[in-house]
Amino acid sequence: MVETVILPTPSIKEVRPRTRVGQGYFIRTFGCQMNEHDSERIAGLLESDGMVAVDSADEADLIVLNTCTIRENADAKLFGYLGALKKLKDRNDGLSIAVGGCTAQKQREQIAERAKWVDVVFGTHNVHRIVDLLDHAAEWGPITEVWDETVSISDIPSGLPTSRQADHSAWVTITIGCNNSCTFCIVPIVRGAEISRRPGDIVAEIEGLVAEGVSEVTLLGQNVNSYGRDLGLNGHSPVFADLLRRVGTLDGIERIRFTSPHPKDFREDVAYAMAETGAVCEHIHFPLQSGSDGILSAMHRGYTSRRFLDKLTMMRSIVPDLAASTDIIVGFPGETEEDFQRTLDVLEEAQFDIAFMFQFSPRPGTPAADMGGQIVKEEMQERFDRLIVVQNRITFNINKAQVSKTVEVMSEGPSRKNPDVATTRTRGARLVHVPGSWSPGSLFNVEIVRAAPYHLEGRSTA
Ligand code: SF4
Repeated sequence: MVETVILPTPSIKEVRPRTRVGQGYFIRTFGCQMNEHDSERIAGLLESDGMVAVDSADEADLIVLNTCTIRENADAKLFGYLGALKKLKDRNDGLSIAVGGCTAQKQREQIAERAKWVDVVFGTHNVHRIVDLLDHAAEWGPITEVWDETVSISDIPSGLPTSRQADHSAWVTITIGCNNSCTFCIVPIVRGAEISRRPGDIVAEIEGLVAEGVSEVTLLGQNVNSYGRDLGLNGHSPVFADLLRRVGTLDGIERIRFTSPHPKDFREDVAYAMAETGAVCEHIHFPLQSGSDGILSAMHRGYTSRRFLDKLTMMRSIVPDLAASTDIIVGFPGETEEDFQRTLDVLEEAQFDIAFMFQFSPRPGTPAADMGGQIVKEEMQERFDRLIVVQNRITFNINKAQVSKTVEVMSEGPSRKNPDVATTRTRGARLVHVPGSWSPGSLFNVEIVRAAPYHLEGRSTA
């Protein structure tokens, strides 16, 4: 029997003493940085309850799947993975399984029905309840808890314990949800309307992170440019540019990044805040999606390709040495060869450092999934291959233009492939391999000595 509880709900009382001290947990995360960040918070909550991270599902007493529903076949992959976990559970009675994230929010009934060996299904705004839900499941059996539209920021605690992947670098959520209606996107359905955190809570969280040794922060929101519109503090709504200036001048913060801005909402004030606030990095992730105005309109993106390019030009004129990345979707319903050519044209004009390129995959429940003119797989693949060739050339040329420059990098620690080399990032988020040993978070200057298609090689000038 599966019990479904919808937030807000009376807090589930602690039903038994905590007995997980020393038990192992394993989290598998799918999808975007929001999910990565949620997984860090899940890990922090489990560790506060006495659990320890283990390296594989085989060793775990608790397996948490933090799911994503953006990519193709996400549901099929989830149920395939859950099938494999059933075998583990059949061998280990004490194993608990929890499923959270966007697929859990959207498909909770299907998961509970089709995978009865799952103990806890929890929604995108129920992360903070994971320990209570596990306690409940241990006592009374499987439980599902998701959120509904009545959720507000006060239902979501701000200062959850977090077990970060890196000691020097942290994500900080500034908004949850999204008020846009891009026709290919499931996020507004699974994460709800946009809610902004109060600036004071964000500042307090970052000050706490600095006290723990963090010097790089990435501000997270589905559309950071609409931050604060729902707040109306003392008759004044804080805007994203205010927030950038405020967090970018906190003691101990060396680098501030943010993702993602929305091209329709990006204004000059944010570019000036970037240029005038030393810690804010000269990097923008600016999602184009398509170069065709007809396709952009069908996507409900709210800008034309010319408007997009004009905003990029504006940013580059205000923020010197700005690096730019983007997202592109190939094969949106109705995309013609002419539409696709426009995307190639815009790529040539925009000269992005990097493009994250995707083939359109219909997400059930989104308007685009039911649109006519779905593109056949072979045609989509052929366009996708051509797109990659164009962008790879642009990326390599931009990388070659970096050779001989001296730039500041921040170490992320030893390279996974070669421990004698440090993996580092420039302020523009370019990847630079540097011989030597540099602890994560160290800042130093390098001269770029070689360009490869996807990374740079540098030599310390110290
Ligand atoms: S801005 Fe569009 S693509 Fe981004 S989360 Fe909102 S609806 Fe999805």
